[in-house]
Amino acid sequence: MVEQQFVELSVVGSSPIGHPIYMKQQKLQYCPICGGEASVKKDDKSLFLECKGGHRFYINPNPTVSAIIYSGEKILLTKRAVEPFIGKWDLINGYIELGETPVEAIKREVAEEIKAKFLPESIFAFNTSEYYLNDLQKNMNIYFYGQLDSVKKLNIDKKEILQVKWFDFNKIPYNKVAFKHHIPVIKEFIEAQNRCAGCVYRESCNY
Ligand SMILES: [Zn+2]
Repeated sequence: MVEQQFVELSVVGSSPIGHPIYMKQQKLQYCPICGGEASVKKDDKSLFLECKGGHRFYINPNPTVSAIIYSGEKILLTKRAVEPFIGKWDLINGYIELGETPVEAIKREVAEEIKAKFLPESIFAFNTSEYYLNDLQKNMNIYFYGQLDSVKKLNIDKKEILQVKWFDFNKIPYNKVAFKHHIPVIKEFIEAQNRCAGCVYRESCNY
């Protein structure tokens, strides 16, 4: 059981507003709505592509979901089979597809990657981060925690991951974790679990 909280743990990277990459973006020159000529503009809050017809296509962070899967005092991590950070350890995570809710998205990601049913208990944290394959995108990451409906042998999607492993809370390989924005969230989750571990109300507690 975990103390329920919404932890905005870290904002990795700087605000994109005014970032020169956007103002020099030569590839974003057509409106995705009407196909007319467009250019990247900004006002005091937002960055957007605008065409002569007045359509605006906002450049906002893309939502992702991540799963902190625990069992007892262990967390499940997967070793990435794809770039970026091939060979590094990761939480199961991915983008929310159009039409999905965040819960549907994280259940789908877990089912795809380790062929298991994830039972999310709650949202634990969220943060924002860089996207590692280009400078244009940013991500907004939602972290769920929960357990698997069964911890029998897991079948992995070998196109996505090389290995799956349960790590003791005190043996998380932080120096080999793929995405640095996951690290403070994992640490905070473990701290929260440890705080609850000795609580006499643990079994009946809703947190
Ligand atoms: Zn347009």
